[in-house]
Amino acid sequence: MAQTAFIGLGNMGGGMAANLAKAQVPVRAFDLAAPAVERAVAAGCASAPTAADAARGAELVITMLPAGAHVRAVMTEAVFPNAAAGALIIDCSTTDVETARDMAAAARERGLRFADAPVSGGVAGAEGATLTFMVGCEEADLPAIEQALEPLGRAVIRAGGPGTGQAVKICNNMLLGISMLGVCEALNLAEGLDLDAERFFEIASKSSGQCWSLTSYCPVQGLVPAAPSNRGFEGGFSTAMMLKDLKLAQAAAANARISTPLGAQAEAFYALFERLGYGGKDFSAAIKLLGGRLGDLT
Ligand code: NAD
Repeated sequence: MAQTAFIGLGNMGGGMAANLAKAQVPVRAFDLAAPAVERAVAAGCASAPTAADAARGAELVITMLPAGAHVRAVMTEAVFPNAAAGALIIDCSTTDVETARDMAAAARERGLRFADAPVSGGVAGAEGATLTFMVGCEEADLPAIEQALEPLGRAVIRAGGPGTGQAVKICNNMLLGISMLGVCEALNLAEGLDLDAERFFEIASKSSGQCWSLTSYCPVQGLVPAAPSNRGFEGGFSTAMMLKDLKLAQAAAANARISTPLGAQAEAFYALFERLGYGGKDFSAAIKLLGGRLGDLT
């Protein structure tokens, strides 16, 4: 088993590090937040005092950080100078495509292997080891990446060369942001038309409106047990993170001269929701703003 460093133990990384430890992988874990490290230790990881200590001599490094700026800093200051020769570095954070390409090039210069491998599946997927990884990497590195990620998910799919994992993720999450707002509007309208929420959910789930935002992540409480709507919209995928991804999508669309008006609308909506003070709430809480019920959110 490769000596492994795991850096970034938040909503997603916490569950992922725990699953590696459960699979008997020797993990040295680091996060800036002490409680996150304590949870990782309780799950069977060893703690490291700094990111550099976690990475020192590691043959495999996995990162799960908020955004591109954090990834650049952790890679250049802690991981690249300390990882073992030829180490495999897998960044599972969602970042801009340029960060992934730059980090892959910098790693290659040092004789290290780098993959961008953002995930889909949410916190439940991280905890239940059912994530999907969308991977941008050199083709020759794929078998080692598949082996490293095997304890964490059910699908590892190579999108292409460095940066393409992030490109797929950005497109996917723009679709997710748009579809969630559609689901919220439909559920609010169903209520306004005096439909029983459970009955509407049951029928729409088997009709053409069916989508992940409805059937796996329903924003109405009581219909999908694992959904954040049952936990006061705490945990899950924060509005701030969704806004980050929608901004990445808009920047990428502007660069590529592609028109994405619904993506732009979703970005504007989530920017407003965050500005109103709800950046920490799960993004499915948008149903409350759309329904004029912000007072329901604590
Ligand atoms: P989070 O904020 O819960 O966790 C990020 C963790 O990184 C925090 O614990 C923070 O303390 C730590 N951190 C920040 N800077 C650090 C540094 N320099 N060194 C060490 N630790 C540092 O976020 P999350 O929800 O776990 O998301 C992580 C990534 O996964 C993001 O890029 C996000 O877009 C992506 N993602 C999240 C979800 C989801 O449902 N939450 C789903 C798919 C993808």
